[in-house]
Amino acid sequence: MRQVLWFRRDLRVEDSALLANASKNVLPIFIFDKNILKKLDKNDKRVTFIYKSVLELKKKLQGLNLDLAIFFDEPKNVFTNLKKDGFDEVLCSVDFDSYAKNRDEEIESILPIKRFIDSFILNPNSHLKKDNTPYKVFTPFYKSLNIITQSYNIEEYSFNKNLEKIEFDYSFIPTLEQMGFESQELPEFLSKDAIELLEEFRAKVNKYQEERDFFYIDASSKISVHLRFGLISPKQVFNYFKSFGSADCEFFIREIFWREFYNYILFHFPHSEFDNLNKLEIKWNENEEDFIKWCEGKTGVPIIDAAMIHLNNTGLMHNRLRMVVASFLTKNLFVDWKKGEEYFAKKLLDYEASSNVGSWQWSSSTGADAAPYFRVFNPYTQSQKFDKDGIFIKSVFKEFENIEPKLFHIENALQSNLFVEYPKAIVDIKLSRQRAIDKFKEAKNEQF
Ligand SMILES: Cc1cc2nc3c(=O)[nH]c(=O)nc-3n(C[C@H](O)[C@H](O)[C@H](O)COP(=O)(O)OP(=O)(O)OC[C@H]3O[C@@H](n4cnc5c(N)ncnc54)[C@H](O)[C@@H]3O)c2cc1C
Repeated sequence: MRQVLWFRRDLRVEDSALLANASKNVLPIFIFDKNILKKLDKNDKRVTFIYKSVLELKKKLQGLNLDLAIFFDEPKNVFTNLKKDGFDEVLCSVDFDSYAKNRDEEIESILPIKRFIDSFILNPNSHLKKDNTPYKVFTPFYKSLNIITQSYNIEEYSFNKNLEKIEFDYSFIPTLEQMGFESQELPEFLSKDAIELLEEFRAKVNKYQEERDFFYIDASSKISVHLRFGLISPKQVFNYFKSFGSADCEFFIREIFWREFYNYILFHFPHSEFDNLNKLEIKWNENEEDFIKWCEGKTGVPIIDAAMIHLNNTGLMHNRLRMVVASFLTKNLFVDWKKGEEYFAKKLLDYEASSNVGSWQWSSSTGADAAPYFRVFNPYTQSQKFDKDGIFIKSVFKEFENIEPKLFHIENALQSNLFVEYPKAIVDIKLSRQRAIDKFKEAKNEQF
C-alpha cells in the first residue's frame, strides 16, 4: 500500500491524524495550489506565513526520517501523476467550505481519499439535538458537549513509528518569487511558535474575560493564525489549558468552541457560505462608494477608519473591532454582509471560511444565534467604552497624537477641530440605525 499524506491546513507533526493513521509506506506532500494562489495579491501576507510553515514542516518530517514533497501545481495534475506512479490512496484532513469540497471530489475521481477531522475537535455530524436536527444556538450546543468540555484531556493522535518514506524526488522547493509572490513582513508574534504564544497567554488568561474587549490591550491569545493553518490543533490548545486544572481557563475554552460551532453550522447549512442562513429577503444598499469608503477607512468615523486601516496594513483586527466594523457596514451603511465577508477573506491573516461567514451572519442578524436586528453597535459608544483614551485610534492615526480623546467618541466632533483634516461622517448614526431596523422589520414582515 503506497499512501499519499496530503498536508493542507494541518502543518504540524504533533497530534496529526495523517501521521497516526497511515500504515507504512508514505509520501507526505504539500501542494501550493495554483487555483487558490492565482486569486491572491502578490503581497498577500498569508502566503509568506504558509511558505515558512511548509519549510518548517519539511524539516520536522525529516527529523522523523520522513520528508515532504512540495508541488506548485493544480491538485488534479499532481494526483494524476501520482496515480501513474502507482500510489493507492490519499489521506487528508477534511474541510467543509465549497472550494475544498469540490476540490476533494475531483481528486477522489482520480485516487481514493481517506478523510479525517483534524482541524476541529468535533465531528459536526455527530452532535445533533434530540430531534436529530442540528443546533443553531450556541449555548445549548455548548452545553450538549459537557462531557468533552468538562474533561481534562482529549486524546491526541500519536505518531505511527512504523512509517517509512517512499523513494521520491523531494528536492523541489519553489521560491515565493517563482510562484508570483513577494516576501512580506509579518507581525512579530507570528515568528513565535504556537506553544510560545500559549505560554505567553497563560500569564494573562485569568484576566481574559475582563479585558478581552479592550482593543488597545494585548489581552487575547493571538492563536487564530496558527490554528487556521494547523500549526497547532484545537485539541492541543484545549489540553494545554486544561492541564493546569484552573477555572480561569474556562471562559477561554468556551471561545475555542465558537470556532467549532461555526464549522458545525457551515457543515449543516452549506448554503450559509453564500446566502443568509435564515430566509430573509433584504434589499441592501448597493452604493459602491459607501462600501469602498468602509474598505479604505475613509468613513469619517474614527474607530471604524482606524480599525480598517489597521486591517489593511497588518492583516489583523481585534475581535471587538471586527464586530463594530461589521455592524457599521451591515446596519449603518446597510451593505450586504457578503461584501464585508469577502473583504475580510482577502485581508485577514486568520481568515477561516466557517468563522468568518458565521461571524458576519451573526453581526448582520441573518445567521445562526445572530445578534437581534435591533442591536446596532454605536461606534462612538464603543470607542468611548473600549478605547477611552484613544490609544488604539492614535496608534493608527499618528497625526492625532495631541488630540483630546473625547473628540473621537462624539459624532463629527473631530471634524470641528480646525487643525484636523478629517472627512465628515458618511452616515448619521441615529438615522441609519433606524433605517436598518425598519428595513429588517420589512424583511421579516413585522409591524412598524
Ligand atoms: C466579523 C467577524 C469575522 C471574523 N472572522 C474570523 C476568521 O476569518 N477567522 C477566525 O479565526 N476568527 C474570526 N473571527 C473571530 C475572532 O474575531 C477571532 O477568532 C479572534 O479575534 C482571533 O484572535 P485571538 O486568537 O487572539 O482570539 P482569542 O480571543 O484568544 O480566542 C481564542 C480562539 O477562539 C476562537 N474564537 C474566539 N472568538 C471566536 C468567534 N467569535 N468565532 C470563531 N472563533 C472564535 C479563535 O479560534 C481564537 O483564536 C471573526 C469575528 C468577527 C466578528
